[in-house]
Amino acid sequence: MKHSPIIGRDYKARIAASSPNKKRKYHYLFMLAGGLISLGVAALLMISNDAEAIRNDLPAEQTSIQTAAPVAHISKPLALPQNRPTAHTSNPQSIAIAAPTMGKWREITVKKGDNLSLIFNRAGLSPQQLHQVLSLGKKARALTRIYPGDKLRFNITDDKQLRALSYDIDQTETLHITQRSGNKGYTATTEKHQIDTRTANRSGVITSSLFLGAQKAGLSDNLTMELAGIFGWDIDFALDIRKGDSFTVVYEELYLEGKKLRNGKILAAEFTNRGKSYQAVRYTNSKGDSDYYSPDGKSMRKAFLRTPVEFSRISSRFNLKRKHPVLNKIRAHKGVDYAAPTGTPIRATGDGKIVHRGRKGGYGKTIIIQHGSRYSTLYAHMNNYARGMRNGKRVKQGQIIGYVGSTGLATGPHLHYEFRLNGAVRNPLTVKLPDAGPLPKKYRADFNKKSRPFLAQLNALKRNTLALNN
Ligand SMILES: [Zn+2]
Repeated sequence: MKHSPIIGRDYKARIAASSPNKKRKYHYLFMLAGGLISLGVAALLMISNDAEAIRNDLPAEQTSIQTAAPVAHISKPLALPQNRPTAHTSNPQSIAIAAPTMGKWREITVKKGDNLSLIFNRAGLSPQQLHQVLSLGKKARALTRIYPGDKLRFNITDDKQLRALSYDIDQTETLHITQRSGNKGYTATTEKHQIDTRTANRSGVITSSLFLGAQKAGLSDNLTMELAGIFGWDIDFALDIRKGDSFTVVYEELYLEGKKLRNGKILAAEFTNRGKSYQAVRYTNSKGDSDYYSPDGKSMRKAFLRTPVEFSRISSRFNLKRKHPVLNKIRAHKGVDYAAPTGTPIRATGDGKIVHRGRKGGYGKTIIIQHGSRYSTLYAHMNNYARGMRNGKRVKQGQIIGYVGSTGLATGPHLHYEFRLNGAVRNPLTVKLPDAGPLPKKYRADFNKKSRPFLAQLNALKRNTLALNN
């Protein structure tokens, strides 16, 4: 069925204002770009790790480190409680235990195909010593999850006694295994490193693309992607961006002992697109759930994704007077068909509850999700359901519920998707999608209090940027 021209224009205007279909593809491109960047970084890391591995193949004498510093470092948890930031100063008690009997330090980098037995063997240690270490329990089991590139630091005496072993579980935690005095077995302790969070900000004006503008402003690619994700429901970053658009981002930077580890989350951001400004503030409620909200407490997200399948092609539109391709007679097409290869993931377009999971006549394998009291969505011709999908199961927006197939009356693999409002079918491509729920009332006062300084900061930064660029 054709829409009446007036409604059609109205709907078109709405799509132009918020075309999530394109946006989602754009997000995918973003993710792809991010993936490629990570791959590049990974490749670089691998090269450097290989170099380390080669260095570690040198005789032990050349790679061993014998300084006072690691001794003090490794003996620290013996004397000091965890979770307390401490300077790397000598502690009389710990030095007294460790220093006189320590051997030589040697660092071994985990290679591809390595395992602990191979590494212990390479370090000149016996399988019995490995067994002793691994039988220490939960903490020591972090050693069974090592990856190529990880580093193990061994302290070994001339008569091949393992005195100590340390391993950085991740950037924030180190495992220390130390021999008890009198050679009475080992102790495993973990040391938490103090992470400091600092607030940073970047502002920029776009002259060609968001990526170039962000790059010029010194915003990392990951943060640029996050920024586009936050405003992606309102702004189509592929089509809507214009010269003169501007942005401001306030975000976290994580530091470990004065050295920057990585960027954290975006705390607040503003994007001005064609003269219209959008602001978003991150808020975490008392249950620990975080999301971005506009200054008046509205969610930056919509309650529904426009499309349930990424990288698909619309093969048949909503048409209440369509001739059915299989039955070859006039039969309403109450949804949209997305052609995609068999096995392509299908995502729930909104939070909700599964009210039907099973075969449904010509629809084949079908899932129906109820979203609150007014909305429901239907996904048909599935090849199979995602694991755990059953009647009554709650699903989240974007969660994979099944995979594209051609069960039921279908000419080829595709998803048939229906959108219902108060029981009546609506065109999923043009229906006005409701906003995701606003911040619950009980959090409003807390949100107002916490968001106020961020909004003040955004406004001050914006004045600055505009002054600089005028
Ligand atoms: Zn269909």
